[in-house]
Order: sequence, then structure tokens, then C-alpha cells
Amino acid sequence: MSGSLPSPVQQGGAADRVPPGRAALPVAIVGAGPVGAVAALALAARGVEAQLFDARAPAAGKPDRRAIALSWGTRLALDQLGVWTRIGRADPINRVSVSERGAFGSLEFTREDLGTPALGYVVDYGDLTRACAHALEVAAIRTGWHTRVAAIEPGSEVLTLALAPEGEVSSRLEARCVVLADGAEGIDGGPAPERSARAYRQVALVGDVSSERFAPGRAYERFAGSGPLALLPRAGHHACVWVLEPDVAQRLLDAGPEALARALEAAAGPAFGAMRWLTPPTQVPLALRRAGRSPDPRIVPIGNAAQVLHPVAGQGFNLGVRDALGFAAAWPVHGSGRLPEADLLRALAGFARTRRADRVFTVAATDLIARLTAIDNPVAAAFRGLGLSAIDIVPRLRRRALEAMVFGAA
Ligand SMILES: Cc1cc2nc3c(=O)[nH]c(=O)nc-3n(C[C@H](O)[C@H](O)[C@H](O)COP(=O)(O)OP(=O)(O)OC[C@H]3O[C@@H](n4cnc5c(N)ncnc54)[C@H](O)[C@@H]3O)c2cc1C
Repeated sequence: MSGSLPSPVQQGGAADRVPPGRAALPVAIVGAGPVGAVAALALAARGVEAQLFDARAPAAGKPDRRAIALSWGTRLALDQLGVWTRIGRADPINRVSVSERGAFGSLEFTREDLGTPALGYVVDYGDLTRACAHALEVAAIRTGWHTRVAAIEPGSEVLTLALAPEGEVSSRLEARCVVLADGAEGIDGGPAPERSARAYRQVALVGDVSSERFAPGRAYERFAGSGPLALLPRAGHHACVWVLEPDVAQRLLDAGPEALARALEAAAGPAFGAMRWLTPPTQVPLALRRAGRSPDPRIVPIGNAAQVLHPVAGQGFNLGVRDALGFAAAWPVHGSGRLPEADLLRALAGFARTRRADRVFTVAATDLIARLTAIDNPVAAAFRGLGLSAIDIVPRLRRRALEAMVFGAA
């Protein structure tokens, strides 16, 4: 599957260096994951030509059974860009309950608080990436699948991408600006920004669980001692993201499904009833990763390429979508002819400026929640419970927390 305009890569791997006299591509996007795809679709909606490259196949998604929660704000954006209706299954979140196991205090949000049909939706990551690939195809956005970007070579007027469709670099493409939407993986060659990583010394156990006590449409975030436990509503069960120390997680996995179910019940507390794992959980190591300043302002990281968050508040993809939309909105509108370099650089500086507050706040808030919820003692639990109640009863705090969760902190 590809855009109906064949990409140069798919035209037989001929050298893609733009011929003299033809302007370089305005934007090349490395990575056609959900964030790269949203950026390309949002640029296309403004009439800006972009081409994507992804090392994987379009239908492959990732071999990853992760369910992710999309906020109402993200749903609106995906709808406008033609992705939403192509997602196989999306289960609504009508209520979010945040609570501390074994301590007083909780926080509840409902769709009535927001006045929308849902607070958000839960989708499979694989469904989402397939829907994005389909929307790219329908919008005729050129997408070089099976094509790894091996390096970015800087030049005074253009950046050159070294493309490796068969593993070896066999073609090149020139662009005025390169958006890095390559997730946490990173490109080895060229002036990409440095990426720092701080491991949380935690893993997430990800799988589907059921309990008769789960309410349909209700998402739970339970602060369960050594780390948070998220339960996201699906049809007939909940998708579980349970954060634990790596050795504890491994011990539980080794002990087998029954022991794992009893441990999950103990972590959640009696209110959640008897639980059963419907799929064997997979382990995902957790780290906070951030891209530093780009050595070339025309190379712009977005989504997980810019920041990988702890999953505690379910914000990584939602933040990436806001990056992608912000990038498209910042691209300068200009008449026919070549976009002046000064206008391009001014627009990219504007993008960085307008995205700063949301990024800094969301990274800091999720990191703080991740650290606070990892402290396993009764005093910390009591303070966490009080904190939740304080947000719940102070209308201004409550509104602010809800808006940040659904629309970001910009
Ligand atoms: C357990 C867990 C639960 C989560 N839950 C939520 C949630 O509830 N809500 C939420 O908003 N977020 C959640 N997230 C985060 C969310 O999954 C990510 O933020 C999101 O998938 C990032 O999308 P992306 O497009 O930036 O990167 P990716 O999805 O990683 O896509 C990157 C793409 O780039 C391609 N690529 C990489 N390098 C190259 C190269 N050199 N050349 C060409 N292609 C390349 C890859 O093949 C891939 O397709 C969760 C994460 C985890 C781990």
C-alpha cells in the first residue's frame, strides 16, 4: 500500500536527488507511525507537500498489543484528518476514576464535566497505525514504505536524506525541512538532536484483564503501591497497564497466570473483585527520553522522537498529535515559488516557541506523578489521596486538570 502517486523509491530505486531546476521537497518526514502520519495529513490539509518514509510495511503496525487512550481533543483531530472513521474499533471512556489503594481520597471525571460524548477512546496501536496508513493512501500522500532513512546530510539550502529501501543506501532525496517522527529509535547518521534517557527502573505489564466489577466505559487509574495500575475500558474487558519494578514483574511472570491474577487483585484492592488475565501480559521497559536542541533548526523532532513519557497519564501519543498539528499550523502560507529561507526559519522558531509550554508541562507532570506513585509507604499514600481529593473539590484545579488531560497545557 502506498500513496497513489508512486514514491521515487517505489519507482525502482533510482537516485532521488532532485534534478536541477526542480525545487526540493518542502517537508520530508522520517517515520509514518501515528504522529508522522498526522503531521503529513495536517500539512496536506494546508496544501503543503510532504513525503514520508518508514522502515516497516504499512499494514504491519507494530508487533505490539498496546491499547492506547486517545483524548477527546485527539479524536477531533483524527476525525478532521480522515483517520478516525478508519480505526477498526474505538471504545469510549465515559468516566475516569483515579484513586489510591487503601487510602482515603479519589478524583473522578465524567463526560458531563466536559459536555462531550466521551472523555476519550481506547484503540489498539496496530489499528491506529493501519488507519493512518489508509488515510495517507486516500489523501495520495507519497509514502516510501520499507525505506529506512539512514542519514540526514546538511547543506546550506537543503537537507539530503540517504534512503535505504533494501538495507543499503541506494537513493537520496532533498528537502527544505526534515521532521523526525521516528519514535524513540533515532537515526545514526547526520545532525540529529542528542537524545537523553533516564530509566524509571520500572516495567509496564500490558495485557487484557476481566472482572465482574469493572464498569463498562469506565477507566481506572489506581495508585497501587509500587507503581500505578491503569485499566482502560474495551468491549467486555479492560486493557491493563500495570507498572512494577522489573524484578517483581519477572517473578510474577515466572509464577504463572494464577499467581499473576492474585497479585493484580492484591494491587488493585478488593473493590475490583476477582480478576483474570485474558492474554499473557508483555513487558515494556519504561524510561523518560527527550531530544535536546536540534543542531540544525530545519531538523524538527515531534512525538516520541521529541519525548517519550511514562505511560501513567496516557499522554504520549496525545502530546505527539499536538506536536504534529502545531508543526503543520506553523508552516508559513506563501504564494507560488520558493519559500524564502528566512520565512522558513522564522516559522520553525515559532513552532518551537508555541510548543514549549505544553511539552514542558506534560513531561514534568507525568514524570512527577510517576515518581510520586512509585513511593511505596503509607504516609506517601495518604498524601497522594489528599492530593487527589484536593483536586476533586477545588473547581478551578479540577477544571484545569481535566483540560490538561484532554486538550494539553498550551
Ligand atoms: C505501555 C504503554 C502505554 C501507552 N499508553 C498510551 C496512552 O494511553 N495514551 C497515549 O497518548 N500514549 C500512550 N503511550 C505512548 C504512545 O504509544 C506513543 O507516544 C506513540 O505511539 C508514539 O508515536 P510516534 O508516531 O511518535 O512513534 P512510533 O509509534 O514509535 O512510530 C515511529 C515510526 O518510525 C519508524 N522509523 C523509526 N526509525 C526510522 C528510520 N530511520 N527510517 C524510517 N522509519 C523509521 C518506525 O518504523 C515507526 O513506524 C503508551 C506507551 C506505552 C509504552
